[in-house]
Amino acid sequence: AARLEVRHLTRAFGGKPVVADLSLTIAAGQVTCLLGPSGCGKSTTLRMIAGVERPDAGRIEIDGRLVSGEGSFLPPEARSVGLMFQDFALFPHLTVAQNVAFGLRDGREAKARRVDELLERVNLRGYGAKHPHELSGGEQQRVALARALAPRPRVMLMDEPFSGLDNRLRDGIRDTTLEVLKEEGTAVLLVTHEPDEALRMGDEIALMRDGRIVQRGSPYNVYNAPVDRAAAAFFSDVNVIRGQSRGALTETPFGAFLTPGHADGAPVEIVIRPQHLKIDFDRGGRGPLPTPTDGTAARGTVVRARFLGRESLVEFAMDFDGSRLTASVPGVFMPKAGTPLWLMIRRDR
Ligand code: ADP
Repeated sequence: AARLEVRHLTRAFGGKPVVADLSLTIAAGQVTCLLGPSGCGKSTTLRMIAGVERPDAGRIEIDGRLVSGEGSFLPPEARSVGLMFQDFALFPHLTVAQNVAFGLRDGREAKARRVDELLERVNLRGYGAKHPHELSGGEQQRVALARALAPRPRVMLMDEPFSGLDNRLRDGIRDTTLEVLKEEGTAVLLVTHEPDEALRMGDEIALMRDGRIVQRGSPYNVYNAPVDRAAAAFFSDVNVIRGQSRGALTETPFGAFLTPGHADGAPVEIVIRPQHLKIDFDRGGRGPLPTPTDGTAARGTVVRARFLGRESLVEFAMDFDGSRLTASVPGVFMPKAGTPLWLMIRRDR
């Protein structure tokens, strides 16, 4: 059953629509990342679900209970939502244990048990008596997570919770956070503008643009089957190869691709990520064109190659029209400028 159900959520500021007819469902234990560029309406969406912003229209249900819509609008504290923001600010005058216990209404013993359980969970056992200023940024973040989870919220709302942390810490904290959220079985909506974070954290990614969700799916699907060129380009640089539609095919200098649904003669763009553009090492630029079962290929000349650690980026000027394409090769591959090579596209990409 859905823990969070959002239907036709709409909000405008000064006549300008900011969230437009947005629908979203999140199950228990599921992490959905609301991903999109700055200003597309992510925070406004989250704030309406939290109950700190009033929708113009639409309804929100948490655990099957209407919290917003049909004239009703429950305040945040009546919604069973946990909140974590970038400026998560622990209470500086309270100890770690008091911070975590803050939202709990249980008796003393039950409270203490829950606090211990959560500190254990976020790997901060024995930190209960410390004050926030004695902790590192990463430790403070984990206390904030424990505090947000303590009252067992049905839905956890997180707005760029990791962006204040330094790079070195961030991946570790993301993984710990994810583990803890999974153990608690909370439904999570995480807002981020960083594709890497969404890919790393999300069971599902909801890609947002101009107040709307333009694509929803697993990280694998959203990355590998983007709905359009902009959706593709949001995750990585992309190469664009121009072709022309003929029947169900698009003809390009790389051969023909199956692209049904375009009018005959229409211009079609083939969009391909740098890591899906293969360099044909074996032929070294001399062999014959590969047969269509290999994929398709075209010849180019190396303009420059750069080593980026995990991968090398090789930029080509293509023989057919001088256009630039970039291929990413895992590890080290540094051909000299001026080297002619074949580039191949895998049809399934
Ligand atoms: P995101 O979280 O994706 O960066 P926001 O939801 O914060 O986007 O903002 C979306 C748009 O709505 C922005 O153009 C922002 O300036 C505008 N906006 C947000 N809150 C208000 C407000 N209270 N009054 C007027 N405009 C707002």
